[in-house]
Amino acid sequence: MKLEGARWRTLISTVRLGRDEYQVVRPAKPLRHASLYITDDAFRNAELLVDKVAARELAMAWELAMRSPRTVVYLPLRQTEYECRSFEEDDEPLLDLVLMHHSLGFPPSLWKEVRARLGRGRPHVVRSRGFLPVESLLTPDYQPLRRTCRDVVRHRVAARTVFLTGSWKAFALTGEQWRWLVEDGPRWIHENPGRHCCAEIAVEWDWDWLHVVRCDDHRVGVNA
Ligand SMILES: [Zn+2]
Ligand SMILES: [Zn+2]
Repeated sequence: MKLEGARWRTLISTVRLGRDEYQVVRPAKPLRHASLYITDDAFRNAELLVDKVAARELAMAWELAMRSPRTVVYLPLRQTEYECRSFEEDDEPLLDLVLMHHSLGFPPSLWKEVRARLGRGRPHVVRSRGFLPVESLLTPDYQPLRRTCRDVVRHRVAARTVFLTGSWKAFALTGEQWRWLVEDGPRWIHENPGRHCCAEIAVEWDWDWLHVVRCDDHRVGVNA
């Protein structure tokens, strides 16, 4: 399915804390199949196990975070219905995901307070405009690795939540991985039965810190 033009039903809440006001967008319905956890190995990177529908919603959340410098994008994933793991023995706790621009300067220490005040939220439909081709984002000398500090996604884990922050370009540079997972992943899975299908998302200088994996046990998706 094409990402561009896809619709994502969300809820918007405006939360006031002291003199600051935050706009928080979350899915109108919880994602049924998206388990996020820090892997129990030496690399301590994050694994996000998804089905087809969750992959699309997460890609749209990534795009929304990219385009909306004033918005906190919140994906409550701790209560996901299918708690699948890459390795059965991995019992690290499930985490939520928050995506936002670093320019917002939102301190994760305030998150619990903001989350408690979301209320019901106003329904809002987000429509995807897709991601820009990576080539259009590179520097003129085509050195994708020579990014400025502003152009990497950074992570922090607090309050059982993974916070990913970045600039427009930092989020945009990993858009192609999300697009591939959503648009080309399903056909790839069909043509490569039994093989591992994933998108590796660069965070800080780890090119695959966020490992987004299509669940082997739910290849057609739990909503199908
Ligand atoms: Zn992989
Ligand atoms: Zn599964």
